[in-house]
Amino acid sequence: MVDLASRLAASINADHVLDLSRTLIATPSVNPFNDPTRPGVREAEVADLYAEELRSSGMTVERVDVVEGRPNLIGRTGDPSGPSLMLAGHLDTVGVNGYDDPFDPRVANGRLYGRGSCDMKAALACFVEVARILDESGVELRGQLLIGAIADEEDRMLGSMHFGQHGPRVDHCIVGEPTDLAICPAHKGQLGTIITTSGHAVHSSVPEEGINAIAKMGKVIAAFDGYNEELRAAAPHPMCGTGSFNLGVITGGEIVSTVADHCSLEVDRRLLPGETFDDVVAQYRSRLDPIAHDDPEFTYDIAGFSMTSEALDTPLDHPVVAASAAAYEWASGRTANITAFTGCTDAPNLGAPAVILGPGSLSQAHSLNEWVEIDQLSTATKIYLHAALALLT
Ligand SMILES: [Zn+2]
Repeated sequence: MVDLASRLAASINADHVLDLSRTLIATPSVNPFNDPTRPGVREAEVADLYAEELRSSGMTVERVDVVEGRPNLIGRTGDPSGPSLMLAGHLDTVGVNGYDDPFDPRVANGRLYGRGSCDMKAALACFVEVARILDESGVELRGQLLIGAIADEEDRMLGSMHFGQHGPRVDHCIVGEPTDLAICPAHKGQLGTIITTSGHAVHSSVPEEGINAIAKMGKVIAAFDGYNEELRAAAPHPMCGTGSFNLGVITGGEIVSTVADHCSLEVDRRLLPGETFDDVVAQYRSRLDPIAHDDPEFTYDIAGFSMTSEALDTPLDHPVVAASAAAYEWASGRTANITAFTGCTDAPNLGAPAVILGPGSLSQAHSLNEWVEIDQLSTATKIYLHAALALLT
């Protein structure tokens, strides 16, 4: 297999990967977040282009609009009766407020600059090169290679949730988020929630007649004293370490001369694999219910909001981890770094054992000066190619 991989890797066309990366960057696909979708502020335009690339690389392409103008693409080649590997990535990018030239891909200092360069249009370009090489080589796969180009990773993860619910089911998944080519079989989950307190509004000259929701929120904040220390003292996950908690955003009241009748606090909790959203809400309630017990005027509510993501915890002995590590070592000549991914991804939603492994660094993702090291594009392409051959031939 190594001979085959070496022979095929020799036909990687680095210029083709770079050119396609540039074309993808130059086709805006900013996540609309709360805005209406329109050309460039949705995935449709870049998906049209990417679907054509997949087709011309010998794949059949299925397109599912998760929301109008916001498609998932699934490219397929090989034998559907055998094992399957999906190379997956998202089509959307974060916004560009304050970014001078986000869609004008620029090459300098061995780097490719532009919005989406490392997060994660370069990885999408590497995937196409793998499909093209397999197609042109005529290698017979005894399984199926899929390329999943997914909508809405940066906001509500609608694309990956749709994929997880409707399939197809795949046996192995490599998600090309920027890891600097580290192999990441695990990451923490995230739960964003809004805690609200209610009060009774009266004129501020007679505060004793009202109930101040901001003062009640003070009790909530005090109740979370020591929570991070408690989380840090718990048994760590071997890769992800321990969970954490953050008080993120607080808003409340109307005007200074009125006793505030509402206050809300957005909190963020990073979860370890194995912890559930319900577990976390139960922890919150165990800190807040005693306040309600002692103070009949204290009422609170907890509601979820969009920043939620499950943890990823693929067993280290799963073949997709071994194949990714072996592919890295073959492609780079260095020992694979198997570690946790720092952020959250849509990988847990895809319903398959997954590793995160891609070109570029998370420290450039979402920044106003996003770039990817061009050398990493060829290495990443080699890695994906080798892993596909290992798992599918
Ligand atoms: Zn990403």
